Parts: sequence; C-alpha cells; structure tokens
Amino acid sequence: MIDLHIHSNYSDGESSVYEIAKRAKALNIKSLAIVDHSIEYSRGLNEKKAAMRLKEIDAAASTFDLKIYSGIECSIDVDGKILLPKFEFDFVVASVHECISSLDFYTRVLKCLENCEFQVLGHLFSDFFCFNEKIEELDLKLLELMREKDVAVEINSRHKCPDENFLIMADSFKIRYSIGSDAHSFLEVGKVGWSLEKAKRYMKQSKMFIP
Ligand SMILES: [Zn+2]
Ligand SMILES: [Zn+2]
Repeated sequence: MIDLHIHSNYSDGESSVYEIAKRAKALNIKSLAIVDHSIEYSRGLNEKKAAMRLKEIDAAASTFDLKIYSGIECSIDVDGKILLPKFEFDFVVASVHECISSLDFYTRVLKCLENCEFQVLGHLFSDFFCFNEKIEELDLKLLELMREKDVAVEINSRHKCPDENFLIMADSFKIRYSIGSDAHSFLEVGKVGWSLEKAKRYMKQSKMFIP
C-alpha cells in the first residue's frame, strides 16, 4: 500500500514523523510521503523545519525499514503562484485552499501549471474550498497542460475528489495519479480506500505517480 499525502506536527498535523512511520509499518504501507504545508501558512515548513523534519524522516525510515518521502504541499494563490522554502524536496504538491468562484479556481490552477514547478495537483476540485461548477473546456485545457508538464492528479480520500468524469478524462490523457489520505493524525494514515477504488475502476491507461 502507498500513501503520499500525510501531514505531521511540522505543520497542522497532530502526530510526529515517528508516530506516522510506526503506524505505516503496522499497516504494512511500504511507501509514504510526509507533505506538510509550506511557508504561506503561519505554522508551515520553513527551511529550518524542513531540515529538522528530514532528519526525523531518515531516522524513522531506517528504524521501520520504510520508504518515506519528504514532500511539501503549497497553496496556489490568487495569481497562480506557490511559495517554497529553499530546500530540496522529493516532490511538491500544489493545491487550492481558497477560491471565490470556479473561474477563480481554474485560473489559479492553469497559471500555476504554466509558471510553476511541481509534480502533483492536490485534491483537485474539492468542494470543501467552494468549488462548485465544472467548466468542460477548461478541464481540457488543464489536462493538456498537466500532460505537457507531466503533473500527476491526486486522488484524495479525505476530500473524495476528483470525480469520476474527470478521472476518466485524465485516464484518456494518460495523466499519472497519486494516492493520498491527507491524514492529519497517525490514525488517518493509510485511509486511502476511496482513492484505490477509484484508481482501480477508472485509471486503466494511467500509471501511478511514484516520486
Ligand atoms: Zn490541501
Ligand atoms: Zn493536505
């Protein structure tokens, strides 16, 4: 099993890297990624915290014999920009955490795809952040850009998105997909059943994203 979206107490998660790794080992998860929020968030992962977290990740990975990736989740701002600390991560997730309309949402994501370097689009179209209306022609534009930039779509079990229509389209574009629980506590690590079920059902040609 795999879970590539877990928050630790280095941002807004409740659990330590050690507790997360211990839980992953107990659940027989072979690879996991800790992706804490970036510096746009007041308790986010600055350069110093990223370095401290990496030490804990390496220690836990060897204690429990696991593959633990060091990632980060950046918010896409109103201009489509993301903020990163000066640090080398295994991969970067970019997600929208606020928007005023669907058009605002698409504009942020499209600009971000055009101008920023990242590997995974997190919880795309989550209605938790007031996304409400799909615009098909912008979906196509988005998928074309994702293919061009080789950006994976996250299938997120916490937000239960994207929907099946988008996944079917993503599969036809052979967009890679990433599996994530978006856990904020060690108890939620590995809760990716929804993601795996959708991937099995809809992702026939697409490959799984591995950092
Ligand atoms: Zn998020
Ligand atoms: Zn998250």
